[in-house]
Amino acid sequence: MLGIFGGTFDPVHHGHLRPVLEVQQALNMAGMRLVPAKVPPHRPQPRLAADARLHLLRLAAADYHGFSVDTRELQRSGPSYMVDTLASLRAESGADDALCLILGMDAFLGLPTWYRWRELERYAHIVVLNRPGSRRPVNGEFRDWLAERELRTPAGLREAPAGRVWFQPVTQLDISATSVRRLIAQGRSAQFLMPLACWRLMAREGWYGYPQVG
Ligand code: ATP
Repeated sequence: MLGIFGGTFDPVHHGHLRPVLEVQQALNMAGMRLVPAKVPPHRPQPRLAADARLHLLRLAAADYHGFSVDTRELQRSGPSYMVDTLASLRAESGADDALCLILGMDAFLGLPTWYRWRELERYAHIVVLNRPGSRRPVNGEFRDWLAERELRTPAGLREAPAGRVWFQPVTQLDISATSVRRLIAQGRSAQFLMPLACWRLMAREGWYGYPQVG
């Protein structure tokens, strides 16, 4: 079983890394692919160029043996649609291996706005990084879609290669890339919100207008 965690990673931070590590260990996944997006279709364009975001993500992934960085979205022309990414991962993995798309709760709640979102279940399960007592989908159609697919135990993820939804409780870290960028814009430090190697590179390169360290 393989985990797939996409994002802009502008920049990567511990709010990404720790919950995803916990998912991988809790569900005993063989690996976790971190997939940086080139042109996120639903969002403003990233502040940092793709190669700089990739450099940071590679440094972060190097700290944990279960993580690897998958650059297929950066290599593809046009927008990075998750449905295309999952289709190509499915073509590589064969029909039987379970694939799990990992989404934060905010991303999950926005799922019905994604390009061809209903096709995602053909290729992968969805694992949501859950906060106890968090808001569930309220929109009728999405709520009904979820009710038909939500698992009561994670064992169901291994009973089919795709098509189920599991809410995995994880440690919640209230960190976002937006808050990291905002801190730096205010001339404050982002140290300890991300791996040390990432922070050092950002500071050295002056990315996001980071104040240079002495
Ligand atoms: P931004 O602040 O620029 O929107 P972000 O920090 O939310 O960025 P993204 O790269 O947009 O990071 O998110 C990639 C994935 O990580 C999404 O599924 C998102 O829900 C999830 N995510 C981001 N931050 C956290 C966090 N602190 N805890 C759990 N999931 C998170």
